[in-house]
Amino acid sequence: MTETSPDLAALRAALVARLADLRDASDTTADNRRPVELDQTSVGRVSRMDAMQVQALAVATDRRRQEEMQRVEAAIKRIDDGEYGYCIACGEEIAAKRLAVDPTIPTCIACASG
Ligand SMILES: [Zn+2]
Repeated sequence: MTETSPDLAALRAALVARLADLRDASDTTADNRRPVELDQTSVGRVSRMDAMQVQALAVATDRRRQEEMQRVEAAIKRIDDGEYGYCIACGEEIAAKRLAVDPTIPTCIACASG
């Protein structure tokens, strides 16, 4: 097994940092995603609907965040396994340009569009 190249080591560090950021963001917004309590007498109907919209938005945002965390984690794992940069579907090398746009992309353009 060859040593991880400096580029990949830097990318891995960036991905680990990104993952930590996403975890932080998810943790600090956890309150916003709590289900809105329906028996709150102090909250009127309109503001309760507002609260439910805010909550729904927060849940949707966090869902995207969780998906990105999974992609980042998978990319880190591929680096560790020495498989980073190769399409998980066909094994072909993924174009550098494609990885530059999103370093967590797991497939080549042919597999992604096919
Ligand atoms: Zn492919």
